[in-house]
Amino acid sequence: MTETQRGSPHASASPALPPEGAHPALGRPGGGVGIRLLQVSAEIFPLLKTGGLADIAGALPAALAEADCDVRVLLPGFPAICAGLQDAVPVGQFTLPWGESVQVLAGVLPAVPGASGAPVRAYVLHAPALYDRPGNPYEDSARRPYGDNHRRFAALAWGAVRLARDLDADWSPQVVHGHDWHAGLVAACLKLTAGKRVPCVFTVHNLAYQGIFSADQFGDLGLPPAAFQIDGLEFHGQISFMKAGLFYADKITTVSPTYAREIQTPEQGFGLDGLLRTRRGDLSGILNAVDSGVWNPASDALIPRHYTAGHLGGKARCKAALQEEAGLVASKDAPLFTVVSRLTEQKGLTLVLAGIDTIVQGGGQLLVLGSGDHELETAFGHAAQLHPGRVALRIGYDEQFAHRIFAGSDITLVPSRFEPCGLTQMYGLLYGSLPLVRAVGGLADTVTDADLATLDDATATGIVFASFSEADYRHAVRRALALYRQPRAWARVRQTGMQQDFSWAQAAQHYRAVYLAALPDFSRTTT
Ligand code: ADP
Repeated sequence: MTETQRGSPHASASPALPPEGAHPALGRPGGGVGIRLLQVSAEIFPLLKTGGLADIAGALPAALAEADCDVRVLLPGFPAICAGLQDAVPVGQFTLPWGESVQVLAGVLPAVPGASGAPVRAYVLHAPALYDRPGNPYEDSARRPYGDNHRRFAALAWGAVRLARDLDADWSPQVVHGHDWHAGLVAACLKLTAGKRVPCVFTVHNLAYQGIFSADQFGDLGLPPAAFQIDGLEFHGQISFMKAGLFYADKITTVSPTYAREIQTPEQGFGLDGLLRTRRGDLSGILNAVDSGVWNPASDALIPRHYTAGHLGGKARCKAALQEEAGLVASKDAPLFTVVSRLTEQKGLTLVLAGIDTIVQGGGQLLVLGSGDHELETAFGHAAQLHPGRVALRIGYDEQFAHRIFAGSDITLVPSRFEPCGLTQMYGLLYGSLPLVRAVGGLADTVTDADLATLDDATATGIVFASFSEADYRHAVRRALALYRQPRAWARVRQTGMQQDFSWAQAAQHYRAVYLAALPDFSRTTT
C-alpha cells in the first residue's frame, strides 16, 4: 500500500452534510418524514455502562430524533436492561442457528436524568440462558470472557436481522446501525442471507476490542461457509466480529476524525489497517458529543454546587467538598489532578504513576477513580499510602462520584496511548477542569494546547503533549503546574474550555448524512 493509497485526510473527515430534503423518500429534516433506524449496541446509558460506548448509545437516539430520525434500539437482555425496560410486551420470537429460541420484547427506556424529548423505544432479546449472568456483560467474575460470547453476540445480530425483516409487524428499519464488535455480525448476516436487503452502518468505538473467536465456533453463527475467508470475517485463521463489521457494512464510522486516520495505519490498525484503507471511501470520523442534560455544571443534580463559566464560586465549593470526601488535604491553592478511567494499558496510567512525584513536589494532589488491571490498582494503592492527604484512590465504578470529581477537579488527566475519542477530557473541559492529554485520537481533536500563541489569542483549552514518554508527560505536568500559578492565564484557559460546544446536534446531522448515503436510492438520486 503506497502513501497515496492511504487516503487524503479528507477521506476520513466528517461526512459532508447533504442538502436539506435531498432524499426523495425522506423529505427535509424537521419535515416530519424520518429515516427509520435500528441502533444495535451491547450497552446503553443509563441502564448498563462499562465505558463511553454506553454514553454514546444512550445519547444518540434522542439526538437523532431531534434530527428527524425514527430511532429504535436493540439490546441484549442483560439483567440491568431487562430490569429497566418499561411497559415491556412480547412482539415475536425466533430461533437461533444452534436451535435456541429467543423472545423479543418491545418497551421503552427510562428517561435519561435531565434529558428532554420523547422516551426511546427499545427491543430487548429475552434469552436468560445467554444473558442472565451476574456482573460484567462480557466476562465472568474472574474476568475471563464467557466461553459462549460468540453465541451471545451472534444472537444480537440475528435479532437485528429479524427486526429488519419484519419480525415486528408494526415497525421495521430502513437502516441498521451497529456499534462495536458486539454488533459486528449484523452486516454479515444481513448481506449473506436471503431476505430483504437493509443497509448497515457500523461504528468503531475502539478497534482494540475485536471479538475474536476460534474457527471451530464458526458453525454456530449461521453464516454460509464462504464468509470464512480473507474477504470475509476470517482473521488469521480465527473469526473476527470486528472485521465482519468493517468488511460487510455499507458505511463505517468511527468516533473522531483523527482516529479515522490513525486506524488506517499499521501502528494503530490492530491488523485491520489494510482493510480500513481499502474501505476509506466509506469511512468517516464523527466526533462524539456530550449529553448536556447529563453533563452540565449549571444543572448537574449530582454535584454539591452549580456553577457556570461566568460564576465560578460554586466550583471552589465543589473542590473543597471533593478534597474532604477523598481524604485529601483541604487546600484551595493545591492544584487537584484527577483521573476517572478504566484502569487499562490503553489509558496511559503508567505515565500517571511515574509522574506522581512531579505532582506532589509541585504542591499538587492526585485523585484516581477507576477499576480494572490488578497491577495498576495495586500500584495506585501504594502511591496513596506513600502520600497520604496528597494522593487518593477509589477503586470501583461510581457514576455519581465521577460527576463530583469533574466538578471539584482542576486538571483532568488523559495521557492515553491511544484514544478513539475520549469523553472524560470533554467532561473536564465543560466542568472547568483543564484536560492534560496526549495528542492522539479524539484527544487531539478536542483539546488545544496552551502555548504562547494560543494563550495570546484565547484559543487554549488545556495541556497537550506528543510522545508517549515519561519525560514528555512529566514536562506536561510541570506546564500545568506553572499555568496554575498564573491565575489570570489559568482562568482564561478554563473559561475558553467551559465555552466549548460539544452538543449532539451537529454529530446527529453527520450520522443522518451517513444513513442517507447508505440508503440504496440515495446515491442514485445524488449522482
Ligand atoms: P472508554 O470508553 O475507553 O472507557 P471514554 O472516555 O470514552 O473511555 O468513556 C469513559 C466513560 O466511562 C466516561 O463516561 C467516564 O466518566 C466513565 N468512567 C470510566 N471509569 C469510571 C469509573 N471508575 N467510575 C465512573 N465512571 C467511569
